[in-house]
Amino acid sequence: MDGWIQDLLIAEAFVLGAVVGSFLNVVIYRVPRRMSIVKPRSACPSCATPIAWYDNVPMLSWLILRGRCRSCRGAIAVRYPLVEASAAALAAFAVGLYGWQAVTIEVMVFAWLSLALALIDLEHQILPDVMTIPAILFGLVFSWFGGFTTFVDSVAGALVGALLPTSVILLYRWLRGIEGMGWGDVKYLAAIGAVVGLQGCLLVLVVAAVLGALVGGFLIAIGRGSGKTALPFGTFLAVAVILWLYMPSSWRILSPL
Ligand SMILES: [Zn+2]
Repeated sequence: MDGWIQDLLIAEAFVLGAVVGSFLNVVIYRVPRRMSIVKPRSACPSCATPIAWYDNVPMLSWLILRGRCRSCRGAIAVRYPLVEASAAALAAFAVGLYGWQAVTIEVMVFAWLSLALALIDLEHQILPDVMTIPAILFGLVFSWFGGFTTFVDSVAGALVGALLPTSVILLYRWLRGIEGMGWGDVKYLAAIGAVVGLQGCLLVLVVAAVLGALVGGFLIAIGRGSGKTALPFGTFLAVAVILWLYMPSSWRILSPL
């Protein structure tokens, strides 16, 4: 493909991603609070003034208003433009890596979903069913139409992704009488398996567990946690699957697994 056409497509994906990121902010705030994602319109969290369209332009409005509401000057969290920038980058990199084809849409949409799940799990320690269960179907359907992996591998990934953490939960309950993982992790890992297939699912699980152990160890080392501190495993799964989707070649080192 011509260089400038490729650049134009990447720029378009960036703008699309920024707009989706603005919507993801609504999802991240409202879905765990069981609020509607379509109404009411977005409003300032401090003064409840509805936000005008010109104050809701992804990233730019936050920069122009320097992170404050136009009406009450209340602070607007930096998380909002960061989510928009991340969603934009995920879209641009997906097009840069895969061009525009079925797999691009699959990678982009699953990365957006994972970004939202990562932040919801971090804040609320839940992975909402309304997001994880449709994602399983999403992965299976895309693999049928030429997605990230084959259909057979997608089914195998979804099954192992569901069964493996289920056995961990049952084993932990039997051995120690506690929940090692949540049922949200089971559904999310099944969706990861449906998107990336069996091998990818296992590697993502291993890397998420290592990330969790590193972060847990770091928190204990700086005196901010103990062995009993609950870490949002879904957040680590999201980081690991995004790395897998966007840096497939850098994972070859783990291929014997
Ligand atoms: Zn306000």
